[in-house]
Amino acid sequence: MHLRGSRRKLITGAGAVGAGAIAVFALDACSADGSGMGGEDAAAQTADVLSLKDFDSAADIWDAMLDGNQRWADGGAVHPDTDVALRESLAEGQEPRAAVFTCVDSRVAPEFVFDTGIGDLMVTRTAGNVYDPLVSESVSYGPAALEAPLLVVLGHQKCGAVTAAHEALLAAEEGTELEEHEYALPETVEALRAAYEASKGESGDPVDAMIKANVLLTVQALKEHPNLAELVADGELTVVGGVYSLETGLVTEVA
Ligand SMILES: [Zn+2]
Repeated sequence: MHLRGSRRKLITGAGAVGAGAIAVFALDACSADGSGMGGEDAAAQTADVLSLKDFDSAADIWDAMLDGNQRWADGGAVHPDTDVALRESLAEGQEPRAAVFTCVDSRVAPEFVFDTGIGDLMVTRTAGNVYDPLVSESVSYGPAALEAPLLVVLGHQKCGAVTAAHEALLAAEEGTELEEHEYALPETVEALRAAYEASKGESGDPVDAMIKANVLLTVQALKEHPNLAELVADGELTVVGGVYSLETGLVTEVA
């Protein structure tokens, strides 16, 4: 049985009929009654369909991650690739399929949010997903050194760091008194100044606009990072931005 081959075909087909096809297939495969598929076959095929490790192109990897996110949002996460045998085999080396740069927020764990396994994602996290030269080296390591073809910058709804930065920068601008915070993050506030400025005048909630602006500015900056610019220019790296909703569990791509 050529599971890998058939799965690739399935993924190729999914591009034409919509990304939902993979998730539907996966749900069918793990349905309790087996729905026409033998128990072992179902288990094998489910595991095969859900592994991020078999995807090569950035577009397929991102589609698979969004399918995993849909499973997570729907309460159908299967936590693939977490078995002992895989863990042991990965001791020989890693080949992460994507790098993810996101916030330290305890509610935004990328392996859960995208329903991926061990060895799939190289994750860097800072408060408000702000970067500096040290951080951006870590973010670039997966794509530059380990050939991960996808880099995801993931902001999130109700980000405390962005909210606090918005509050501080607005107060400074308006010359109003700011309530003193016990755990102020002055460097983080400063790093978010560009997003604050860029989001001025946007409609809707100003913090939401700043979260989105921060993602977009970070995507652009990482595309121009010395370690990554050539990979992006050569089409070997795709950088995408998204915002995660704490309420729905869904990631929305931003552009
Ligand atoms: Zn946050």
